[in-house]
Amino acid sequence: MLKVEGLRVNYDAIEALHGISFEVREGEIVTLIGANGAGKSTTLNAICGLVPVSRGGITFMGEDLVGLSPHGIVQRGISQVPEGRRVFANLTVEDNLLMGAYTRKDAKAVRRDMEQVYERFPRLKERYRQLAGTLSGGEQQMLALGRALMSRPRLLLMDEPSMGLAPLLVREIFSIIQDLNREGVTILLVEQNAHMALKIAHRGYVLETGNIILSGTVAELLENEEVKRAYLGG
Ligand code: ATP
Repeated sequence: MLKVEGLRVNYDAIEALHGISFEVREGEIVTLIGANGAGKSTTLNAICGLVPVSRGGITFMGEDLVGLSPHGIVQRGISQVPEGRRVFANLTVEDNLLMGAYTRKDAKAVRRDMEQVYERFPRLKERYRQLAGTLSGGEQQMLALGRALMSRPRLLLMDEPSMGLAPLLVREIFSIIQDLNREGVTILLVEQNAHMALKIAHRGYVLETGNIILSGTVAELLENEEVKRAYLGG
């Protein structure tokens, strides 16, 4: 479904990704794990058209994404739940959700999808007129996820959904990610919390300072000594 080949990204003179290749097949949850600064967010942002690609290719359902606008990429069925949620703090919950549907023109279907988001996240329904900035961290994560769903993605990119959340909430969010996957959404999950990510993913890649150093099924990664030592606390 998504193929990344030889992807390089530069920030001025600094190369953040040194030619990485990986793929996500339809129906999978694939995780990209790695430490702070490994290049995980850069990878997601390159897929979404938010940072320019220096070299290499990104294709989605056979179509080249490099050079398309972020808007065009959302329209093709990819949406991102960014690191740190990035909700619009001064907009209401409902307006945040509507922002997620900005590429769509079918107002009735948008309304129906919003009702579905409210069914999935009853807390958001209770607070639909509240300003997003006043929500708790967990509620903001749910709002960011709901907003991403409003574009009806086929591929959802999630950047560190566990960040800053209490363990109970992390489990809740991860279980929602699994539900979405069972309903047909393919997922690329970026995490520093390798423990949790490897619990729900099918396959994974390990990113270290801009290079993919390991890949495999979750079972293979969990048995790998390097993964155990560096990412699972021995
Ligand atoms: P984190 O979990 O901390 O976000 P990450 O794995 O997502 O880490 P990136 O944010 O992709 O890593 O960063 C990869 C490298 O690129 C780092 O060395 C970082 O300092 C650098 N970098 C990221 N964004 C920029 C930017 N806008 N300008 C310059 N350098 C950047």
